[in-house]
Amino acid sequence: MNARIAIIGGGLAGLFAAWRLQERGCDDFVLLEAGARFGGRIETVSAQTGGARFDLGPTWFWPEIQPELDRLVHELGLERFAQHERGDTMIERSPGSPPARVRGYAGAPAAMRLAGGMSALIDALRSRIAPQRLHCDQRVTRIDALADGIDVHAQDAQQRVTTWRVARVLLALPPRLAATTIEFQPALPDALADAWRATPTWMAPHAKYLAVYPRAFWREHGLSGEARSGSGPLAEIHDASTRDGEGDADGEAALFGFIGIPADVRAHIGEAALLAACRAQLVRLFGKEASDVRFETIKDWAATRLTATAADRLATPHHWSAPDNAATSGVWQGHLVGSGSEWSLRYPGYLAGAIDATQTAIDALFTETSP
Ligand SMILES: Cc1cc2nc3c(=O)[nH]c(=O)nc-3n(C[C@H](O)[C@H](O)[C@H](O)COP(=O)(O)OP(=O)(O)OC[C@H]3O[C@@H](n4cnc5c(N)ncnc54)[C@H](O)[C@@H]3O)c2cc1C
Repeated sequence: MNARIAIIGGGLAGLFAAWRLQERGCDDFVLLEAGARFGGRIETVSAQTGGARFDLGPTWFWPEIQPELDRLVHELGLERFAQHERGDTMIERSPGSPPARVRGYAGAPAAMRLAGGMSALIDALRSRIAPQRLHCDQRVTRIDALADGIDVHAQDAQQRVTTWRVARVLLALPPRLAATTIEFQPALPDALADAWRATPTWMAPHAKYLAVYPRAFWREHGLSGEARSGSGPLAEIHDASTRDGEGDADGEAALFGFIGIPADVRAHIGEAALLAACRAQLVRLFGKEASDVRFETIKDWAATRLTATAADRLATPHHWSAPDNAATSGVWQGHLVGSGSEWSLRYPGYLAGAIDATQTAIDALFTETSP
């Protein structure tokens, strides 16, 4: 199997790279995605088949400070709408203290969402890329630099291995995952591999709880759906209703929360108990209508093998500086470049970072040689 360029990973960075390469007249590439679906950390779920989609991964972007991503959203013809923040916020200051109602405030810069959930971005990109270039169920396990090219070895779920001979590789996955789960022959320079392994994968330690309701009852009571809690299990809660229903149509009203319990403790508690505890907290905060859940689920990203490594089970409270995206000497120089979000110098870890890092990586590919 031959191609000029191999893109490893079919999340936002990988699909955006594929589309941009195509747009620049380069269609001699292959995209290898390990999972059964495209999107990576972008994932949506519906309460019923064909129903409204809710985000289990990223929800927001900030056009004011991320203009390139906003331009992409416009270019792809996607609809955006503001996060619902009208109404009061609920606060639980500490375990055991009763919930208090305080005046809500609108975040600045304004957080925007996509109609149809963030997967709309993935669907729009996919629909523009030649399908024969996109391969799911192809987990890259080893990359060999040879005298006359690079061999990329990918395994499917039945352990069958396909080897792709390419000239350039774009790593469209988190640096830590690349350095920890892919074997490079010869090894990457030590300092580079160490820097990639030391770079946390943004949001990988976290888990989200989603509850879909028949109506956005909290809005009827003047509440925004936002809450902050020192009691838990949810630390931060937001309105997740779709735009179309404005939270009023059946199956389109929802709340979501970030679970504030560390990954190892979550695994110990188990999903059934955690679901019950999250639901009970929503009743405590928003009243007994919150028990009338149409659909609920938890997505634990720390338990997602194609996102998190063992080192990602501990939360990092802050952003980091992006590591170098390529080797500056040795056999890998000019042949391998990182384009996953964590390599972005401007928005590391964010959706906008996947766009920024990919643009930088593609510019590097075209500068080094005409692909
Ligand atoms: C819970 C959560 C909330 C978030 N909220 C926001 C938000 O509100 N706003 C925001 O801007 N960002 C948010 N983020 C971050 C955002 O999701 C990421 O920045 C973005 O999705 C990264 O895209 P990516 O393509 O770089 O990486 P990923 O989405 O991680 O894609 C990497 C892809 O590589 C694949 N892969 C992994 N290993 C291999 C292998 N060996 N071979 C082949 N393929 C492989 C994976 O399956 C995956 O599809 C959030 C993330 C999470 C988890």
